[in-house]
Amino acid sequence: MAGLTPPEPGDCFAHEGGLLSVEAAAALVTARIVPLHGTEELPLRAARGRILAEPLVATSDLPPFANSAVDGYAFRRADLPQDAILPVAARIAAGQAAEPLPPGTAARILTGAPIPPGADAVAMQEDTRPAGLAIPTNIAITLPRDLPEGANIRPAGEDIAAGELALRAGHRLDAPALGLAAALGRPRLRVTRRPVIGVFSTGDELVEPGQPLRPAATHDSNRHTLLALLDALPAEAQDLGILPDRALATAEALHEAAARHDLLLTSGGVSAGEEDHVRRAIEANGTLHFWKLAVKPGKPAAMGMIAGTPVLGLPGNPVAAVVAFLHLARPLILRLAGAATTPLPRLTAPAAFSHRKKPGRREYLRVSLVDGAAHRYPRDGAGLLASLARTEAFAELPEDAIAIDAGDPLTVIPYGGLF
Ligand code: AMP
Ligand code: MG
Repeated sequence: MAGLTPPEPGDCFAHEGGLLSVEAAAALVTARIVPLHGTEELPLRAARGRILAEPLVATSDLPPFANSAVDGYAFRRADLPQDAILPVAARIAAGQAAEPLPPGTAARILTGAPIPPGADAVAMQEDTRPAGLAIPTNIAITLPRDLPEGANIRPAGEDIAAGELALRAGHRLDAPALGLAAALGRPRLRVTRRPVIGVFSTGDELVEPGQPLRPAATHDSNRHTLLALLDALPAEAQDLGILPDRALATAEALHEAAARHDLLLTSGGVSAGEEDHVRRAIEANGTLHFWKLAVKPGKPAAMGMIAGTPVLGLPGNPVAAVVAFLHLARPLILRLAGAATTPLPRLTAPAAFSHRKKPGRREYLRVSLVDGAAHRYPRDGAGLLASLARTEAFAELPEDAIAIDAGDPLTVIPYGGLF
């Protein structure tokens, strides 16, 4: 089961065997999903978070001309006399064109102003002093002797040279990327189409927030978590409501929605209980691959296809749904949207706790980052949504780990940028 070409349409998420590692599951998803067709051109601000559809190549140098990095004095080092004093013959502010520097003179220059032809260094204002009491300030200046060639000069094309590839197709457009496009003179960018994603909750126990809780009912939180997670991705999320625990209704709703979406996400109903209808509904309509992920929380997930549309059944427990979303839905969606890479942001922090775990599965603990160390939230059940809302990162404990002790380096996935 390898390669980039989908085999039989029905087989594309096939996986033999028992527990599936998170890595293998994400690899299956990204290998089998083909990016959507279609692009659009958007103004920079509207392109935030979108995926660049074509390479951004610089058509001019950035910066466009050699300019001063400081407020100071431009001069030619070879012109410095014994006393290091030069008369100030010109003043160049940002936005002004620079005349050539007359030999034996300095020019007052401000940050961002063009370097006058003939000058080969700029002395910072703080490294100069007015020359002689009788001479009014700025008419002549004592300059430093030890400046190297090009000191405080930003050469043309220092940042990006004309013709250089600035951003690859598939780049996710964040604030620096949009700023770079603007700096290269581009007011609009061609981006990929966003996948249209339908989100269902499932369960007879669920009621909408705002509705009173009848006996044995609980408010639907997953849909709202998932819709918010999708809003942080290049995706057009559509709220498709709550499905009852009934096989026929679930099958009909999924079938109908598959025709109008690029991906369907559900939560709940993928375990082995007799009221878990999502698995069976996918099976009835198309093809299903039920995955037991080697991860805690987040174990059961269903990946299927209905009429050519991928359907991802996430677990019902709120924290498990988020973990499975980050490992399966996120790479799938980024891949559909044509993103070049999809890794989760990871960094390292020392553990401020000790913990014992079972080998053979990956575990995600919720942690706060205090003074650079990872502090564990006291409870970590898969249903405890507050454990996510009150922390800042997942600590990712690898499959083979069995004991974490205070001070051990931990891999940490900060929520920032994901949520
Ligand atoms: P299930 O996989 O359907 O058996 O659900 C597992 C647990 O997650 C149950 O306690 C459900 O009540 C809960 N759950 C399922 N869906 C949601 C949801 N949308 N919002 C909050 N809790 C949910
Ligand atoms: Mg359920």
